[in-house]
Amino acid sequence: MESLRPRVRTLNDRPLNKAGAYVLYWVQANRRVDANHALAWAVRLANMHGVPLLVYEGLTCSYPAANDRLHTFVLEGVPEFEADLTRAGFGYLFYLRRTPADANNLVYKLAEKALAVVTDDFPTFNVAAHNRRVPGRLKTAYFAVDSSCIVPMNVHEKRAWAAYTIRPKIHRELPLWLKPLTATLPTKPWSDSLLPPGLAEFRTPVRRDNIPALVASCAIDHTIPLSKSYRGGTTEARARLERFLVSRLSRYAKESGQPSKKATSELSPYLHFGHISALEVALAARNYATEHKLIADEFMEELIVRRELAFNFARWTPENETLDVLPDWCLKTIAKHAEDPRPITYTWEQFRDAQTHDPLWNATQQEMLTEGKIHGYYRMYWGKKIMEWSPTLAEALRTMFRLHSIYALDGRDPNTATGILWCFGLHDRPWTERSIFGQLRYMSYDGMKRKTDIAAYIRQYDSPQVSLL
Ligand SMILES: Cc1cc2nc3c(=O)[nH]c(=O)nc-3n(C[C@H](O)[C@H](O)[C@H](O)COP(=O)(O)OP(=O)(O)OC[C@H]3O[C@@H](n4cnc5c(N)ncnc54)[C@H](O)[C@@H]3O)c2cc1C
Repeated sequence: MESLRPRVRTLNDRPLNKAGAYVLYWVQANRRVDANHALAWAVRLANMHGVPLLVYEGLTCSYPAANDRLHTFVLEGVPEFEADLTRAGFGYLFYLRRTPADANNLVYKLAEKALAVVTDDFPTFNVAAHNRRVPGRLKTAYFAVDSSCIVPMNVHEKRAWAAYTIRPKIHRELPLWLKPLTATLPTKPWSDSLLPPGLAEFRTPVRRDNIPALVASCAIDHTIPLSKSYRGGTTEARARLERFLVSRLSRYAKESGQPSKKATSELSPYLHFGHISALEVALAARNYATEHKLIADEFMEELIVRRELAFNFARWTPENETLDVLPDWCLKTIAKHAEDPRPITYTWEQFRDAQTHDPLWNATQQEMLTEGKIHGYYRMYWGKKIMEWSPTLAEALRTMFRLHSIYALDGRDPNTATGILWCFGLHDRPWTERSIFGQLRYMSYDGMKRKTDIAAYIRQYDSPQVSLL
């Protein structure tokens, strides 16, 4: 059986509570049974001590920008996660905290009777904040397990400078980690009688058909519509993976930079919410490529090297929604051009409502508004133009994070921080000096027109055009 130890961080100095009735796995990022190293660690611990495993998942109304789109996507994953866990003999308690007046201490209550608490090690958003705040308040041991990366985050001892510095290490380590994870079943099945008194009543039943009512009952922003095509859950994720392998992987190297060709996997929301693991995706892509004599290197580069560079950045730079975390050369060039005239600027509302003079930019923002993500190639253009058309680069950064928090199903991720900061030079190199951008890489409408089929993409997103020029 593979060693999970290198994936685990012990985040407090409390002993195991030997009188504990169960091990508690608090799911915060990896909402799945398969290829879940945190679940595997938790069940092995439970079996070693002869106790069952309880999986707890909460969804609160109080996270920043909580809205119908995000809530629905998470809830859509719950019924099959529950069915998979129950079938395997694990306990599962899902709690929807609808209003700020509702109980907000379930994890502490459940931890009181636990032998240990195991959770996901995920370096951004609420998960990172919880993993800083909660362990010190518990009387029992608290373990955070990395099930997001294929090569564990703990293997990298410092912040990498760029892809070229982390790539050799990832490639060296990969044969050790790119392997299926052995499933471990519980030796002691779960029984609800083990729950601390009064906690069973917090269980929120989630079924496909009651999700709209559950969402409507929450004190969250109801103005953000569901994504037009992304539905949450592991089955959905696997269907997208299958479609990617069969009809897109062979075109990926050539066409992933052509948004209208739809050659990418569109898995980022599922990876973000943990409905599928990067490990499962990578193994499936590798096996399919071997079987069909295809090259999957370009896809693996994005899924493993680029994604794990982002996790490395977020791990070592926890407060990252600021330009201050950029390398010196970026800060210097940004400062030098801070006062450059901006011939065109837009307000937050104009950006949000896709009301610029540029039909391509408006289409990218329409993709964000309606789908909940933007194609990777045009996402760079989207970011660069917000920089060009904002009064300051600090404001551009705020706009990008804010739009991601509200609309992006794959937002609040290490990739969000890295993708946005990449626009400001992170993990990039200096380019030819020009106004506003200084030495930061520039992207132009003409460049996009030359390299991609702009018209086809604009047709897909039917962008309203406003002529301001
Ligand atoms: C301004 C900006 C913001 C971004 N915000 C996000 C975000 O909020 N969430 C997010 O997941 N990605 C973000 N990215 C990175 C990238 O655009 C997306 O990961 C990718 O477009 C997701 O689409 P896909 O699943 O079809 O990718 P595919 O091309 O099919 O790639 C497979 C997976 O590899 C990873 N990946 C792909 N490209 C990158 C990349 N450049 N860097 C890191 N990992 C990558 C993703 O997990 C992706 O799902 C951002 C990029 C930029 C420039």
